[in-house]
Amino acid sequence: MSNTTNEKVRLLILGSGPAGYTAAIYASRANLSPVLYEGIQPGGQLTTTTEVENFPGYPNGITGPELMEDLKKQAERFGADIRTGIATATDLSTAPYKVTIDEEKVIEAETLIIATGATAKYLGLPDEQKYAGMGVSACATCDGFFYRKKIVAVVGGGDTACEEALYLAGLAKQVYLIVRKPFLRASKVMQQRVFDAPNITVLFEHNTLGLFGDNGVEGVHLVKRKGTPDEEKVDLAIDGFFLAIGHTPNSKIFKPWMETDEVGYIKTVPGTPRTNIPGVFAAGDIADPHYRQAITAAGSGCAAALEAERYLSEHKK
Ligand code: NDP
Repeated sequence: MSNTTNEKVRLLILGSGPAGYTAAIYASRANLSPVLYEGIQPGGQLTTTTEVENFPGYPNGITGPELMEDLKKQAERFGADIRTGIATATDLSTAPYKVTIDEEKVIEAETLIIATGATAKYLGLPDEQKYAGMGVSACATCDGFFYRKKIVAVVGGGDTACEEALYLAGLAKQVYLIVRKPFLRASKVMQQRVFDAPNITVLFEHNTLGLFGDNGVEGVHLVKRKGTPDEEKVDLAIDGFFLAIGHTPNSKIFKPWMETDEVGYIKTVPGTPRTNIPGVFAAGDIADPHYRQAITAAGSGCAAALEAERYLSEHKK
């Protein structure tokens, strides 16, 4: 790790979802002069969602990008130093904790809040890479526009898959929801909306084998009731293939120092954002395999900032 461009900060926050920005709001109001790096996806996962109807305080809902812009402005209002940049390496062996940004600049932080969130998963089929940017996407709100009046498929049976399918149903002619189980795992209200949508067809007990097409995606090879006596191969003509099968926590650069679970979620002391390293806190989806909601992420970001404040006052030099 280079030492040429070191900068010392009291509190470094990594990530710009609801957890990161809420931590920045609390920390800047407490005069901790936080520096926040936005990471790979400024504004986090909510920037790829449409309507957020369940964040308290918005009786008529708000779009994900608007909510994140508001949180950012609120943090900036109290002096949070919000920067573009990606944490590429860490040395958390001793305090001050060192984080390399964009492979060059090293920040030395007395306290660190990790709020780097989670990233969409892919099935792992070679065709997902073959057709990347040519009909394969993990973000309906980013790419749905290209499929107006076309036919698309969404893979997954959770809330994300239902949300993506409903969003796409407003644009596309026909949406297929490809679900590997005989039921949806999504909340009842989302399930009902999907079943009520006239142009969404749910294909239960279907798995994806691959994609085909000469000029981008033109269809998907599916298998119905895989491994059973009545297994059946089905080909569907589609123009777009959307993944909505869950997320992987963005914890790779912290793993050498931090306790994580088998999936990679950072372990925290139950009910707190404290990690196995004093002065290093984890907030939001990076430490939450269970709830993964904007409001729970925001709450844990608040708790992390309060913990950082306490830690700094106890370790005054
Ligand atoms: P989930 O983990 O809830 O669901 C993932 C879905 O993808 C499941 O149906 C799963 O199938 C399926 N899946 C996983 N791997 C594969 C695979 N290899 N092939 C085929 N299907 C696969 O993830 P979500 O992203 O949907 O939701 C995460 C959390 O965020 C949840 O707690 C959810 O409630 C929440 N959320 C809430 C929203 C809201 O309140 N508005 C919106 C979006 C998310 P299986 O069921 O068989 O395991």
